[in-house]
Amino acid sequence: MILGRSIELWQQEYPLLTQMINTTEVFWTNPNYKDYTDAISKIPLTEEDVLGAEARFKRFAPYIAKVFPETKERDGIIESPTIKIPRMKEQMEEMFNQKMICENMLLKCDSHLAISGSIKARGGIYEVLKHAEDLAFEFGMLSIEDDYLILDSDKFKEFFARYTIVVGSTGNLGLSIGIMSAKLGFKVTVHMSAEAKQWKKDILRSIGVTVIEYLSDYSKAVEEGRKQAEKDPVSYFVDDENSKSLFLGYAVAALRLREQLKDLEVVVDETHPLFVYLPCGVGGGPGGVAFGLKLIYKNLVHCFFAEPTHSPCMLLGCMTGKHDKVCVQDFGIDNNTAADGLAVGRASRFVGKTMGDLLSGIYTVNDNMLYRMLSALADTEGIYLEPSALAGAPGVFNLFMTEAGQQYIKDQELNSKMQNASHIIWATGGNMVPKAEMNDYYRKGVGLV
Ligand SMILES: *Cc1c(COP(=O)(O)O)cnc(C)c1O
Repeated sequence: MILGRSIELWQQEYPLLTQMINTTEVFWTNPNYKDYTDAISKIPLTEEDVLGAEARFKRFAPYIAKVFPETKERDGIIESPTIKIPRMKEQMEEMFNQKMICENMLLKCDSHLAISGSIKARGGIYEVLKHAEDLAFEFGMLSIEDDYLILDSDKFKEFFARYTIVVGSTGNLGLSIGIMSAKLGFKVTVHMSAEAKQWKKDILRSIGVTVIEYLSDYSKAVEEGRKQAEKDPVSYFVDDENSKSLFLGYAVAALRLREQLKDLEVVVDETHPLFVYLPCGVGGGPGGVAFGLKLIYKNLVHCFFAEPTHSPCMLLGCMTGKHDKVCVQDFGIDNNTAADGLAVGRASRFVGKTMGDLLSGIYTVNDNMLYRMLSALADTEGIYLEPSALAGAPGVFNLFMTEAGQQYIKDQELNSKMQNASHIIWATGGNMVPKAEMNDYYRKGVGLV
């Protein structure tokens, strides 16, 4: 029984559940998808909040440029390139035997974000900076007019060393929180779920971060982290399941993307729709980015989340409306996937509710498809991603090739506009994966083609 009902009853109400339980790929369009103006009026976060987050990143930029020299080129602004991937598009058309008429196929390379090589370098780093700033303001050590370069000093490091930052993670969030916190001088404890890769734990330990390992999944690691932080008054818990800070840090991506699309002469307007495909774990990353994009492009942008077939937690939560009251394991889905960054069994309620009317849909991808996309992208564009980061890639084909996808295009009156559309595959991680491990991924993909 799940929330007082048998699995059979759940399946009767939500027929898609049967395929999800069988871990076959599905494409779900959101029946609650609403006009932007209606949807946004119910959300407690605003454009001012996102602009505030961008302003905070700017205040810290001189400091970031100094302590992370790899960010110097962008003056301490942590941002990734957006590029056109015509060869990958061709390759995918061949693989799926489906022409895909559109104006642009783009890749957002968050895999190449400075400092921690994944989308977590947005939200994770933002939340640490915000906490550091809050503390320093509270104790009168810093004011908004100061040059934040002063943070790179023994005085500040000793101050932050009195505080601890705690987080639960499947790997990449721990990496971003750990690296940023340690640099400022904080004590850091990262609670890592079973999926977390050894090399991520090694990097963290080498910079003095305490890593606690669990044999169970992400939800357990988060729960333990939360418990530990509650016991300790100087501990601050980065709550990946509920954090508004993380969400806003991710949302800033949209402001930056708008400028990049202008530079690329990619048009988004009434006759040129934009489609974005975002890999989803607990939901904060894709949710924050999609929220930011909706603020800017409103009804012109269509955001889809992508999950592994074995970890469709956001789909389960949104489709049933039960959000964090249900998890994939309740339905016998095992949450075992090669997409370690997406190996989450229970989605964020906060994200599910916030994005519930703004999200166009969610689809699932099996692990083999992730590997095939991985080697295809490497062969065609020379870009190497981790498996999680490829979940966005099949999205556009799903839109074209599934009945639900075609129905969405019809319902949104997009048929005549598809030839002018741009599609963005959000590549969420991979740049820090050790070479030997990446070779294994690549070979797996080649073997599957
Ligand atoms: C964490 C992560 C995601 C998804 O972010 P969530 O906030 O967990 O939804 C996607 N891709 C990669 C590589 C990640 O590490």
